[in-house]
Amino acid sequence: MGPIMFRKSQANQIKEFFTLPLKNNELAFFYLGVSGFLARSADQAVIFDPASFLKNDEVSALKKVDLMLFTHDHFDHFRAGDAQAIFKATGAAVLAEPKVANKLKDKIPPEKLVSAESGKTYAFGDVMANAVVGIHRGPIILYQIKIGGIMLFHGGDSGYVNLKDYHSQIAIVPVGRMSPTASPENAFKMASDIKPQVALTMHGSDKQKQEFEQKVKEAMPQTKVIIMQPFTMQTIAVQSPV
Ligand SMILES: [Zn+2]
Repeated sequence: MGPIMFRKSQANQIKEFFTLPLKNNELAFFYLGVSGFLARSADQAVIFDPASFLKNDEVSALKKVDLMLFTHDHFDHFRAGDAQAIFKATGAAVLAEPKVANKLKDKIPPEKLVSAESGKTYAFGDVMANAVVGIHRGPIILYQIKIGGIMLFHGGDSGYVNLKDYHSQIAIVPVGRMSPTASPENAFKMASDIKPQVALTMHGSDKQKQEFEQKVKEAMPQTKVIIMQPFTMQTIAVQSPV
């Protein structure tokens, strides 16, 4: 993230995010920055890699969150104290890369904390999650989740790994800096495997985001790229199942 800068509280926007009416074929996204996203269907909500992006009153503004997912323990993805605060506010179950899970052992009750094993599938109420090993500086787990019947992939800030078994309607892919393993090329290869109807960018400079968008436009015209700015929200509609 770089230095912490003044940012106006978005607590009201977060409240609004949780009340957006959604159809069966829609998910709403609220981008927190880096790899941090809130995603919700009509009835379920998840949060990915929230790090310490949320201020106290924004954490309080969160409504029911079914699942909090952590890809790895780098500070721009995970902070133990913030994870605990979000858990307290929402009661969300936590699915986390094993190093992260280990750091949360004394902060999240064991029945709410799951250490993610690559290749395994987990169910949290009506939210399903597949854990997939990625490639990064240190261990990283990527997630394909099913929420509101829609398949959504989150690529952490991984480099390219084979994702041909993880076709999803929406993919959030890391397109570059500050990740040493992410790049527009790697994100494009991920998207080529996942074949999403919509690809959302995360990480990366503006130039890298545009580079990714250009590659997708040329080679995968059926996939729409959406570049979200931090602390904005967007509703995305998909066509029937993958
Ligand atoms: Zn990282």
